[in-house]
Amino acid sequence: MSANDLLWEKLVRRLGVLIAFLALGAAAYGQTFPEPRTFKVNDRVYVLLGPIQHANKINQGYMINSTVIVGDKGVILVDSGGSDEVGRHIATAVRRITDKPVTHVVNTHHHGDHYFGNVAFEGATFISSEMCRKMVRETSHEWLELMERDIGRKLPETKPLTAGVIYPEGTRTETLIHGVRVVFWVPRGSHTIGDLLVHLPDDKVLVAGDVLVSGVVPTFQDGFVKNWIQTLDEIQTLGVEHFVPGHGDLMTLDDVTALREAMLRFYSVVKEGFRKGQSESEIRKSLDLSSWDKLERSYVIGRNINRAYLEIERDSFNE
Ligand SMILES: [Zn+2]
Repeated sequence: MSANDLLWEKLVRRLGVLIAFLALGAAAYGQTFPEPRTFKVNDRVYVLLGPIQHANKINQGYMINSTVIVGDKGVILVDSGGSDEVGRHIATAVRRITDKPVTHVVNTHHHGDHYFGNVAFEGATFISSEMCRKMVRETSHEWLELMERDIGRKLPETKPLTAGVIYPEGTRTETLIHGVRVVFWVPRGSHTIGDLLVHLPDDKVLVAGDVLVSGVVPTFQDGFVKNWIQTLDEIQTLGVEHFVPGHGDLMTLDDVTALREAMLRFYSVVKEGFRKGQSESEIRKSLDLSSWDKLERSYVIGRNINRAYLEIERDSFNE
């Protein structure tokens, strides 16, 4: 071994120690999260556009959009993120927009990536649909396990905080919060059994949770496809200009129409296949997936066929 080699070995060892030290430091000072892109709708409505990839080691469970509604005395936040840490990360992003306190947190549905951040807003009024609260109570442990698995570490401080204010299915409730007119709309189960959409009629904004998505394939797994298409029909009649999806960029009315058409085509082909007695893999071959198979989360397509198939089969018993 030459003197050069020895020197090199020493250097590598030192570098190793340095890296270990830095890693420890990172663990001690918490994770870093991707920064959201902020989209300003008007002087009081801002959208924090989060990463669209499924939870992973890089985004650490930060994978949703949050909407910041700045009223005269406080902030209404829609969707809080996938862990206590993501919630604090979102809180920091809110503080860059306004120093008013977050007094209300709305959860659009019971999928963990949208509500586990509630812990970071303790003391706020939490709002969801009635079914969302029930589902959070029943499924939060499963969602937490999934999240911990996907990001590769434990989240000991992440606890499910459920809503104190709930709205039942099939209702639209108009209310005034901090001077902002807000309509809480709970359609028939669409993306999930308990979706809550937030309509701001004076701002021409609809915050739709995952009833709308852009750049990612909609996930049918907990959904009701037929109702969902009906909800998309209604969404198009609200006179909204800015549609905020749960994941991905803001949408226009044309985008909503395109999503509705894609979902209807999908549903119709699965239904046709069911009537012909085709298997799910045969149905897959007759689907035109060109608008979906290049998007983020295209791996859900197979599960989507399965979910639509089961729904159609169930409906067929009642025909
Ligand atoms: Zn979801």
